[in-house]
Amino acid sequence: MAASMCSRSPRRPTAARRTHERACQVASYFKKAKPKSKVLVLDGNEDIVSKKGLFLAAWNDLYKGIIQYTPNQEIKEVNARAGTVKTDFDSFKGDVLNILPPMRAGDIAVQAKLITHNNRWCDVNWLTMESTVAPGIHVLGDATLSAPAMPKSGSMANNHAKIAAAAILAHYLGEAPNPQPVISNTCYSYVSDTEAMHVNSVHRYDAGKKTLVPVAGAGGVSSGRNALEKGYADAWAKNIWADALG
Ligand SMILES: Cc1cc2nc3c(=O)[nH]c(=O)nc-3n(C[C@H](O)[C@H](O)[C@H](O)COP(=O)(O)OP(=O)(O)OC[C@H]3O[C@@H](n4cnc5c(N)ncnc54)[C@H](O)[C@@H]3O)c2cc1C
Repeated sequence: MAASMCSRSPRRPTAARRTHERACQVASYFKKAKPKSKVLVLDGNEDIVSKKGLFLAAWNDLYKGIIQYTPNQEIKEVNARAGTVKTDFDSFKGDVLNILPPMRAGDIAVQAKLITHNNRWCDVNWLTMESTVAPGIHVLGDATLSAPAMPKSGSMANNHAKIAAAAILAHYLGEAPNPQPVISNTCYSYVSDTEAMHVNSVHRYDAGKKTLVPVAGAGGVSSGRNALEKGYADAWAKNIWADALG
């Protein structure tokens, strides 16, 4: 059995991180249940763009001979029936293909004419999360044109919602929105069923730049994957589900 995980969306650290995490999960299963199988990761990027050292260590220590990573392989053609993908110069075959297509805000954002950037994303006022082209309409999460170094994540979407909720409340109270929102992101990656690692960052509104910027010295990446981080990841998941879903 061979599984190909293909990213058609180069230069997207967040999307790449998810692909690499999924590769670990599939490889973890193969290692136990189908040890002769391979996971071929075809990346449109020139290199691993997020948690590089941590993913390379996990692939080398845990999945040597199972995960094969190949950069500079932007997918040009997919034949689902034949199980093949073509890149500029190569062709690959897998029993299972997992294609990550180029991403953009959903159709509803297109129909509402909220897309302002690159035919893909919605610019927002970071003090309120209102669309810059339709004040009064708040855009959250992955649909936004990310602020500098801001990942697209559930963690971030949840924080966007808090900025929007506070701004809407302030609006109805006749007050100005918080002039300097500060939000944070944490993303865990499970590399097996027992170990995880994380990256996190803090983002503060900069009135001069009119956007959220990363706070220097806050955040960073794990020193290594381990079982303790897996426990933190489980706790993070339970907390954000409780926070978002009630
Ligand atoms: C494999 C994987 C692992 C991830 N792991 C993490 C992680 O560990 N931590 C983390 O923080 N983030 C993680 N993420 C990222 C996270 O899932 C996304 O960033 C987050 O879900 C974005 O939230 P959102 O509300 O913007 O969009 P979505 O979650 O995509 O929600 C949009 C919703 O809108 C609905 N919708 C669309 N159009 C309409 C319409 N016209 N009417 C009604 N509904 C509509 C869609 O069906 C969808 O349910 C992961 C993503 C993937 C793929």
